[in-house]
Amino acid sequence: MTSKQLHVTMISSPGIGHILPVLLLAHRLATRHNLRVTVLPVITTDGSPAVSQLLTSFTTTTKNLSIIQIPAADISAILPPEAKVVTHLCVMMRETIPAIRTAISTINPRPDVLIGDIFSTESWVVAEELSIPKYVFVTSNAWFTALFAYSPVLDKQVSGQYVDQKMLLDIPGCKPVSPDDVIDPMLDREDETYKVYLNQAIGVTLSDGVLINTWEDLEPRSLDALRNNEILQSVLKNKPVYTVGPIHKRYEPDVLKNDIIEWLDKQPEQSVVYVSFGSGGTISVEQTEELAWGLELSRQRFIWVVRPPTGKHSDGSFLRASESSHGLYAYLPEGFLARTVEVGFVVPSWGPQVEILNHISVGGFFTHCGWNSTLESVTSGIPMISWPLYAEQKMNATMLADELKVAVKPKVWPTRKVVGRDEVARMVTGLVAGEVGKEMKVKVKRLKEDAQKALCENGSSYISICKFVEDCWSRI
Ligand code: UDP
Repeated sequence: MTSKQLHVTMISSPGIGHILPVLLLAHRLATRHNLRVTVLPVITTDGSPAVSQLLTSFTTTTKNLSIIQIPAADISAILPPEAKVVTHLCVMMRETIPAIRTAISTINPRPDVLIGDIFSTESWVVAEELSIPKYVFVTSNAWFTALFAYSPVLDKQVSGQYVDQKMLLDIPGCKPVSPDDVIDPMLDREDETYKVYLNQAIGVTLSDGVLINTWEDLEPRSLDALRNNEILQSVLKNKPVYTVGPIHKRYEPDVLKNDIIEWLDKQPEQSVVYVSFGSGGTISVEQTEELAWGLELSRQRFIWVVRPPTGKHSDGSFLRASESSHGLYAYLPEGFLARTVEVGFVVPSWGPQVEILNHISVGGFFTHCGWNSTLESVTSGIPMISWPLYAEQKMNATMLADELKVAVKPKVWPTRKVVGRDEVARMVTGLVAGEVGKEMKVKVKRLKEDAQKALCENGSSYISICKFVEDCWSRI
C-alpha cells in the first residue's frame, strides 16, 4: 500500500443537523482511519450560534482535519422567504457551487475524493472537473435512503398524492412506507419542492457510492435491499453502500456544569423526561399549550427546551436561529411555571442535549426524531416519545415505535392534528413511570450495546469504513 495519505474533502449543507454528522464523520476518518480531511461547511449568516461553537470545537485540536467555512450564496432575489426548507437548501447549495469550487482549488494537496451530504450533490460537477470519485453521505438511515433513491420510480408508478393512497408504498425489499409517514417533500406533488427533491434523489444515484449513518444490526432488511435487491440496485446503478454509524455526538463528562445539570443532579435517577425538538422544530401556539398541560398533568419531572411557537412551519428554526426568547413564556398556560417549579425546568431555545441525555436522572426523551437526536438517545440508552415534525422524522418515529419498540407514539401524528393534554400525560407517565417504559429501556440498552460494537475495531461500521477507504484507493 502506498504511503501517501488519502485526502478527502467533505461538503455539508447548512444546519447543525447536517454539519454535525459531517464533522463527526470527518473526525472519525481523520483520527481512526488516518485520512487527511478538509471539511467545507456552508454557513448562513443568520445561522445558529451553536454552529459557530461546533466549528470552533473541531478546528482547534484535530490532527489531519481542517475546516474551510463557505458563506452560503445570497438567494433572496431567487426565492421568496416562505419557500420550503428543502427548496432553500437545494437552491442555496447550487448557487454556492462557485464558492465551493474556488475553495477546493486552494486546497493543497488536491483532494482525492469528494463526499457530500444529500443537499450537496450539485457539487458532483466539481468532482467531475477534477476527475475524482464522489460519494454521498446520508446523515439519516437506510430505510430513508431506500425511499429517497426509489422516489423517481414511485413518481412514475403512483398517480395522485402519496398521502391519499389507500395502500402502503412499496419499496423493493424494504418495509413499505405508510402514506401517513411520507417525507415532507413528498407531501404535495404539485409543490416546487417535490421537483427539487426528485432532482436531489437522482443526484444520489449519480454518486460513486453511498455512506449511511446506520449500522448493520439496526437495519438488516433495508441494507440488504439496498445492496442485493435487483430493482433497488439498478436504481442505484450498482453503487456500493457503506454503513458508517452511529456517527453521533459523544458525551464528554468533564464539560463545565451549568444550571440545568445542577438541577438534574438533585433529581432522582431516571425520573426526568427531556423534551426537545431538535435544532429546527417548532410547534403551534395551541400545541404548546396542550404540551404544557400534558406535562403538568403527568406529574412527572421534565426539562423542556421551549421555542416561540410558529403559525405554519414545523421546521421554523431550521435555517434561522430562534428569534429572541423574549416574551416566550407568554405562550405557556397562565401559572404553569409557578405550578411546576418543583418538578420542571424550562430552557429557552437551546439546551446541552447530549449532556442531558447522559445524566443519570433522565429516564426518557420526548423527541421530534431527527436522526441525530435519535442516535443520541439510543447511544445514551434512553427510550423515547416519538413526536415527528418534518423531513423524514415520521419514518424514523415509526421505525422506533413499531419496529424497534424503543418509543411510544401518539395515535395521530402531531403534524396532522393537535395532540391533547391527556394523551401527552399518558405517554409521559408510561415512559418514565410505567411498565412500557421499563420494557423499552431494556430494548434500547441492547441497541446501545450493538451500536457500540459496530464502531469498535473490527465492528461492522469500522470494517465498512475500511472497505470504503480501500475502494477509494482503487479508484484513484
Ligand atoms: N441540539 C442540541 N440542543 C438543542 C437542540 C438540538 O444540542 O436544544 C442538537 C442535538 O443534540 C442534535 C442536533 O442539535 O445533535 C439536532 O439534530 P437532529 O438531526 O436531531 O434534528 P434537526 O435539528 O436536524 O431537525
